[in-house]
Amino acid sequence: MTKTVVLTGAGVSAESGVPTFRDARGLWEGYQVDEVATPRAFRARPDIVHAFYDARRASLETVEPNPAHVALARLEAGLGDELLLVTQNVDDLHERAGSTGVLHMHGQLRSALCVGCDVRSPWTGPLGDGPDCPACGAPELRPDVVWFGELPYEMDRIFAALDEAELFVSIGTSGAVYPAAGFVQYAAARGARTLELNIEPSEGTHWFHEARHGPASVLVPEWIDRLLG
Ligand SMILES: [Zn+2]
Repeated sequence: MTKTVVLTGAGVSAESGVPTFRDARGLWEGYQVDEVATPRAFRARPDIVHAFYDARRASLETVEPNPAHVALARLEAGLGDELLLVTQNVDDLHERAGSTGVLHMHGQLRSALCVGCDVRSPWTGPLGDGPDCPACGAPELRPDVVWFGELPYEMDRIFAALDEAELFVSIGTSGAVYPAAGFVQYAAARGARTLELNIEPSEGTHWFHEARHGPASVLVPEWIDRLLG
């Protein structure tokens, strides 16, 4: 039975040096969103899309989990299956900090999805050179990330957990991207307490019962120390 649902977003990984998706000009590391993050872009220019994600996958080698990731792994150790940790992040910093049950609602860089057979395979190298799918042998692997126009993964499981939750905590998210931005209202309507931990008030900050603002690497360990006593 899930009692606590935690949602993490780009703000948690930003402190590890993972670039947040959009810069001030609305670009992702120099690319327009619709050049690299839509199914249409992948059909039109798979070389550009693969180059973008291959570079981001490779850059994971240069970043490390920060105290927020480490504290959330401690929370999982303390709460067991009463915790569901949902992340919008496609990096693997939660896993590298020790979390094991992370639900990646937007997919993962270190995973490849086969367009031919729908099987996903762990993947650390590039995809741009057209490697074969380990499951079916077809050279039809794509990044296992959710693009604009695609449904996030495991929404049924997330909403079922929010139905049961007594506490919903949003960490490092802008509150601008749906459906995740709607989790707070959904959880609160079903009786959960809601808490925001973010560098600044998010777009949805007024929906939370309580909001604390500052770096995740400070706020998250503080909150978890108090919770676990
Ligand atoms: Zn396949």
